[in-house]
Amino acid sequence: MIVEPLDFVAPSIATEGENTSAEEWDARFYKLAEQAASWSKDPIRRVGSVVVTPDCRSFSLGYNGFPRGYPDAKELLMDEELRQMLMVHGEINAILNSPFDVAGSTLYATKFPCHKCAGVIANARISRIVSPPGNLDHPKWGTSYKLAHDIFRWAGLEVKGLGIIAPGGE
Ligand SMILES: [Zn+2]
Repeated sequence: MIVEPLDFVAPSIATEGENTSAEEWDARFYKLAEQAASWSKDPIRRVGSVVVTPDCRSFSLGYNGFPRGYPDAKELLMDEELRQMLMVHGEINAILNSPFDVAGSTLYATKFPCHKCAGVIANARISRIVSPPGNLDHPKWGTSYKLAHDIFRWAGLEVKGLGIIAPGGE
């Protein structure tokens, strides 16, 4: 039997007579972002991200890591300052890895985006963020999260905070 591409529904997506709710799609793609996070070699802070088109048919994965080809040497990964200077964040990689135009897409991230990623996300014209809420009082990331919130607000992005605390209380 020949299955026409338009009629094909993957078994994992099919439900019994009901359309998949937006909540369910969010939960699915967030789990995928968690999977991507597990691929990071960062010993302290692993972040996964998924960018998904509004129709949920195309997605792109990213996780934080050193630039392409840069050696993942243990002494670099264990040096906090160097590690942070070299690390390309998961959200940026998810955007860069995308074969489609990410404008209008939803970005899932396993930690609230930092202000630098927020600027790129806004300028990539992503419309919606789904992530754990950032801890605005966090000693290291609090100010960055506040700026990211401002960036998202000014850019008109919808931010959906999942009711979970990210690992490390961030
Ligand atoms: Zn970032």
